[in-house]
Amino acid sequence: MEILEIIKARDPQEREFHQAVSEVVESIKPVLDRNPEYRSANIVERIVEPERVIMFRVPWVDDQGKVHVNRGYRVEMNSAIGPYKGGLRFHPSVNLGILKFLAFEQVFKNALTTLPMGGGKGGSDFDPKGKTPMEIQRFCQSFMIELSRHIGPNTDVPAGDIGVGAREIGYMFGMYKKLRNEFTGVLTGKRLNWGGSLIRPEATGYGAVYFSAEMLNVTGKTLEGTTSLVSGSGNVAQFTMEKLIELGSKPMTFSDSSGYIYDERGVDRDKLEFIMQLKNVRFGRVKEYAEKYPEAVYTPVDPARDYNPLWDHKADCAFPCATQNEINGKDAANLVKNGVHVVSEGANMPTTPDGVDIFLDSHLLYGPGKAANAGGVSVSGLEMTQNSMRMAWTREEVDQRLQIIMRTIHKMCLDTAEQYGTPLNYVNGANIAGFVKVADSMLDQGIV
Ligand code: NDP
Repeated sequence: MEILEIIKARDPQEREFHQAVSEVVESIKPVLDRNPEYRSANIVERIVEPERVIMFRVPWVDDQGKVHVNRGYRVEMNSAIGPYKGGLRFHPSVNLGILKFLAFEQVFKNALTTLPMGGGKGGSDFDPKGKTPMEIQRFCQSFMIELSRHIGPNTDVPAGDIGVGAREIGYMFGMYKKLRNEFTGVLTGKRLNWGGSLIRPEATGYGAVYFSAEMLNVTGKTLEGTTSLVSGSGNVAQFTMEKLIELGSKPMTFSDSSGYIYDERGVDRDKLEFIMQLKNVRFGRVKEYAEKYPEAVYTPVDPARDYNPLWDHKADCAFPCATQNEINGKDAANLVKNGVHVVSEGANMPTTPDGVDIFLDSHLLYGPGKAANAGGVSVSGLEMTQNSMRMAWTREEVDQRLQIIMRTIHKMCLDTAEQYGTPLNYVNGANIAGFVKVADSMLDQGIV
């Protein structure tokens, strides 16, 4: 039986996981043909099975004294090249299939960073929206009481993701420290004054923009004077816009789960400051941007629509930075039709398989998330290094390393795609380069 049939038969409901595996399996076919040792050691069958999955009850008490129960998870996918590493997501849509897809992607992404990190992902179906700071704190503490048994600075080092930022990392770190009585780099994304790294909050967004600049450079172009479509308005979207503005591109859109903003004049530094205050301090909705800046147009989400109008504007570049499968086939066709010639994914797997096919067929420059958004985990790796050395690098040092890593990832994808006869196909480049590094390490370490 083919591997995809096996995993579908075993866990039929895990659609996102099947999608992520299917893309990688397709890319690595020529690698398996050239290297029969991977087949004889059953590497693919082993790489799709998490080394360990932890599922647990997270009870917590709200401000009215009512008891709630959420489900907590940690998927420890692969540790062939280093301790498990990957974020924690708090969002009502979280389930095992979504975390397995994210953990699987993370294995290949981390391999591309050149740093020694295995892959993992975790989180909970807890919805932080509308919760008070004390409720968030009690939830994070309860979550960590169980998670602390399974993680450690040399075992598994979680970070943030959707719904988990520096505040949540702080509450979880505090509880871990109390339970273990040790101050270690067990989480990344920490605040600066207690072990965090400069540039970590910026890293995913900055990295996605650096990656787009590298892709454009191949065709002799730059970001200067271009227009960009961005989705999301959280951590990744905000710093994507910041770097775009710095490099001379004009971000014209951003969104949240209720709707999106189109600002033809572009988001400038002052407007971005407003967005950061709105989303990070007041926890408001993007709709308020159109009330403050009347030249902007707000369009609410319409569930009856089978495409996202955010992707239907004329522009040069697109940066999906919200969530998985936010660009479908129709959206991808609209992007191509509107002249977008570079797509760099800040989010994980934001494009559906038919959308990816449209991008590849149209020959636009398409940087898949596992390569384009690897800046975040890369700086998390640098945070681990600084914690181990008990020192902190300057902003310039970290940014310099981030740029070198993104350039290296880009070159690795480009060269690998070329080597396997599919030039400029960054999907194949990223999947093959990531796979070979992990697969070779698994071969070296035997059947474990
Ligand atoms: P945040 O929680 O900071 O922001 C998420 C943004 O996406 C918010 O604007 C949110 O809107 C929107 N969003 C979330 N879910 C949905 C949905 N189902 N439909 C529409 N909009 C949605 O998360 P991040 O910015 O950290 O993460 C964004 C993406 O980037 C994710 O795919 C994540 O996995 C990926 N990523 C993040 C990294 C990091 O370092 N943080 C590293 C690599 C990848 P709302 O406010 O309404 O919820």
